Amino acid sequence: MSFLKRSKTKHAERPIIIGITGSIASGKTTVAKWFKNIGEDVISTDNIGHQILNSRQLKNKLTKYFGKNILTDNKIDRKKLSPMVFNDNENLRLLNKLIHPLIRKRTQKMIDRCRKDLIFIEIPLLFENKLQDGFDLILNVSADEERQFYRLKKNRDLKEKDIKERLSAQFNAKKKKELADINIDNNGTKKELFQKLETLYPTLKKTPKRHIKKLLEL
Ligand code: ATP
Repeated sequence: MSFLKRSKTKHAERPIIIGITGSIASGKTTVAKWFKNIGEDVISTDNIGHQILNSRQLKNKLTKYFGKNILTDNKIDRKKLSPMVFNDNENLRLLNKLIHPLIRKRTQKMIDRCRKDLIFIEIPLLFENKLQDGFDLILNVSADEERQFYRLKKNRDLKEKDIKERLSAQFNAKKKKELADINIDNNGTKKELFQKLETLYPTLKKTPKRHIKKLLEL
C-alpha cells in the first residue's frame, strides 16, 4: 500500500516530496530539523502520530482494544502502550492499522496545502513498510550500528537489551542504502552532517522534479 495517495493537485503544481528515513538514532530528526531551520516545510510522521494519539476517535478505539490501563490522567500513555506492542506482532499490527490511515490523511492534507517547491517528510520504517510510492526522492540517513547504539544509550533512557532488540527489528543498513535515492552518512560530527546538507540543499532547490532522481550520492 502506498503511504501517499496521488495528490489531487496537478503533478506540476505540487511540491517535490522528499522522504527522510533511516534506522533508529541514525539522525533522521537532526536532518529534518536542519531543513526546518532553513525555512523548509517539514512534516514528522512521528509527531503527527503523537498528536493524534489522544484524538477522541483513536483514544476510544485504543482503550477498547488495549484496556484502560494504557491511560494516565485519562490520556494515552505511550510508555504504557509501547511495551504492549513492541514484542507482540498482533498488537503492533492492530495499532498500525488504527493509526496509519490517520497519519497518512493528515500528511496528505499538509502536502496539499504546501505552496513551496519542496516538502520534507520524516518517516521511519519507510522501506520496512514499503511506503516508497508517492515520494519523488528518498534520503536515507545512516550511521554504523555501534554509533546508533552509543547515541541511543547516551540520549535515551533505554536498557542495552531494549536497544539491541530495536536495532535488530530494522532492515539492514545495506538494503536501505540500495533502496534510497541519496544516502547521507552520519558517522561524523553534527558539523560534518550539516556541511553535507549545505552541499545537498542548493542542488535540491534547483533540480527540476523530472530530474530529481538523478542526483548524485553525497
Ligand atoms: P529515532 O529513530 O530514534 O527517532 P533519529 O534517527 O531521528 O532517531 P536523531 O534523533 O536525529 O535520530 O539522533 C539521535 C541522537 O543522536 C540525538 O540525540 C541527536 O542529537 C544525536 N546525533 C545525531 N547526529 C549526531 C552526530 N552526527 N553526532 C553526535 N550526535 C548526533
